[in-house]
Amino acid sequence: MSNSVIIKVAVAAPLFSLFDYLPPDSASTAQLLPGCRVRVPFGRSKRIGIIWESCDHDDTAPPSHRLRAITEIIDATPLLDENERLFLSWCAGYYHHPIGEVVSAALPTRLRQSKQPCPTLEQGWRVAGKSISLHDFRNAPVQQRILQRLLDSTEGVSDKQLTTLDGDIRPALKRLQQKGAIERSNMAPVLTRPSSDKRVTLSQEQQKAVDAIHAANGFNTLLLDGITGSGKTEVYLHAADHAISRRLQVLVLVPEIALTPQLLRRFQRGIDGVVAVSHSALSSGNRERTWMQAQKGEADLLIGTRSAIFTPMPRLGLIIIDEEHDISFKQQEGFRYSARDLAVMKAKQRNIPIVLGSATPSLETLHNSLNERYQWLKLRQRAGKAKPPQIGLVDIRAQRLRAGICSDLIKSIREEIDKDHQVILFLNRRGYAPQLTCHACGWIAECNHCDARMTWHQKLQRLWCHHCGCQHAKPERCPDCGARESLIYQGQGTERVEEYLGEVFPDIPVIRIDRDSTRRKGSLEKALHQVNDSGACIMVGTQMLAKGHDFPRVTLVGILNADQGLLNPDFRSPERTAQLLVQVSGRAGRAEKPGKVLIQTRHPHNPLLKTLLHKGYEAFSREELAQRQHAQLPPFAHQALIRAEGTDSKQVQQFLQFAISRSPQLLPHIELWGPTPALIERKAGYYRWHLLLQTGNRQVLHQQLKEWLKWLRQQPQARRIRWSVDVDPVEIL
Ligand code: ADP
Ligand code: ZN
Ligand code: ZN
Repeated sequence: MSNSVIIKVAVAAPLFSLFDYLPPDSASTAQLLPGCRVRVPFGRSKRIGIIWESCDHDDTAPPSHRLRAITEIIDATPLLDENERLFLSWCAGYYHHPIGEVVSAALPTRLRQSKQPCPTLEQGWRVAGKSISLHDFRNAPVQQRILQRLLDSTEGVSDKQLTTLDGDIRPALKRLQQKGAIERSNMAPVLTRPSSDKRVTLSQEQQKAVDAIHAANGFNTLLLDGITGSGKTEVYLHAADHAISRRLQVLVLVPEIALTPQLLRRFQRGIDGVVAVSHSALSSGNRERTWMQAQKGEADLLIGTRSAIFTPMPRLGLIIIDEEHDISFKQQEGFRYSARDLAVMKAKQRNIPIVLGSATPSLETLHNSLNERYQWLKLRQRAGKAKPPQIGLVDIRAQRLRAGICSDLIKSIREEIDKDHQVILFLNRRGYAPQLTCHACGWIAECNHCDARMTWHQKLQRLWCHHCGCQHAKPERCPDCGARESLIYQGQGTERVEEYLGEVFPDIPVIRIDRDSTRRKGSLEKALHQVNDSGACIMVGTQMLAKGHDFPRVTLVGILNADQGLLNPDFRSPERTAQLLVQVSGRAGRAEKPGKVLIQTRHPHNPLLKTLLHKGYEAFSREELAQRQHAQLPPFAHQALIRAEGTDSKQVQQFLQFAISRSPQLLPHIELWGPTPALIERKAGYYRWHLLLQTGNRQVLHQQLKEWLKWLRQQPQARRIRWSVDVDPVEIL
């Protein structure tokens, strides 16, 4: 053992620095590889950490006789190579987040402990060598079915594939194993080879985009700005295939895989290589296997949601972000990172190209494209024979609405379903009615824990607070005036629209798609299948319906309440509203049949709606950018938001007041806004207040923020309240 070596460890704990340790007595320094997990003494307990680096002792470190030694080396080979460690260090610095927590976020659950990584090969079953007669199992039908299934395949069947057999098959598997009829086997990764004739001929625009991506050498950010249905996915598939053919790995980030099973299937079927999938609905075992496959370089393409950005990929050669404008790329709690922004950084560190795709690019990305930091590729034609939909506004000010739908829209729906076409109605509000009121005295059902109203859910027969999740039954009589039968539902959610349409169109399936109707696993897939198999039908849904689905028979999209977004005070609200409207509209007319979109509004002269309708999203976004520049808002300024919360509103405000007391010294070049209460100040019993920091120079923001946070974290006040830093916040209310 050499006394002069110090090991810097990222300890899995909310700590902002690396910690110094001595090598364990028993190990040689050659075993202390950076990126390996170790167990270390920490306070009076032991913690898991990752060796970040080892260095020779220098004078700045505490003298080595006060350092403690590493207790145990867990890994023989590193989990995180130098590239990944560099990336994670950068993440911790940029988001002013503890390095130990960043590392934890990057590791699968079991590897945050001292467990050994699972084998990358999926486990399955195969028939054991002996000759087997199905006839012998005629009295055990489940065992017989399993055997039948195993006999049909030469390589065996994975555990996952076996779950498609009905019922609980575990006891039967066990019995078969005891009888020596079957045995465990490692499944080879599934390699898909797309048949070449399945590939479409690229349009000129698509080919140009593919060529540009192939030509990108080293770090290069390309915006693939393509209208809905223009064939962006086809471009991704070509670019990915090209990279894989050069033995490179490809990372594809998508907003929510569970919502877009079609997209996932296209990657799984369309790629010539091993495709691994990572998202939060996977079991932790499957996620870990995916992680290991990518980390060992066995997976050629990893498709996943935001946290997949932390999966190590030693041969990474291309990153693709689909729907780059989607805010689900931003983690909204704890370690508040933006997977899109981090992906650009990762591409820069690896010196590789990255493609950001969207029909409605974020203003940040558009800004970077306008000033030519990003290469701007445009797809302006719909692929195949499809035409962009025709969009019209319906002024509902003087109309009588039933369940929020005007008679013009009902008429249009009837016309389409008479032609056996399908219809989508979009309403961004789940439940039956957003408000329960007493018509005798004006009482409104509000949440006891939030500054918010309760939503009535008819299916559940419950009042439900969408902010804290608390639920209760409908009162028998008005809690205020005691009147009976005086409570009425006001406004409408998807449940009410579904009910009403069922009455108007009793012979047509009405399929509701929102978070409630798709809560159970597989239920969204089922609903999507139902739509595919059905003739005329009406889908009623929330923004879930806006996400990338391809419904070839939908010819009419009705947007019931476009005004909801127009009235929101957040400065990003116009951008969000425009994106949502365009994305929802994009579901109409995706195949040969032309599509039509009807937008109900009480503000038909609203400038946003007019620009969007008459000039399109790009014109709208350029105008919106000009306004942001005028108001000096992002992307022309950089922000960090301090969020504080506590059970005593005064105390929360006092903390933020205290926090800015040193701002003249520590934040001299930063504009401060606040403290201000959150839009919904009280949520789940906590009072929430914000402090917004803003400046035109990103570096200044980070330097001064760092010093100020360092001071603030040392103050006793900072420990009495829950607070956090959100760098580049996407929601500031
Ligand atoms: P986007 O991702 O831009 O919404 P997709 O890639 O999903 O668009 O393409 C929309 C539809 O058009 C898909 O059904 C796709 O198979 C088809 N498509 C894409 N490119 C072509 C092409 N060059 N020729 C014919 N059909 C195409
Ligand atoms: Zn009342
Ligand atoms: Zn609540």
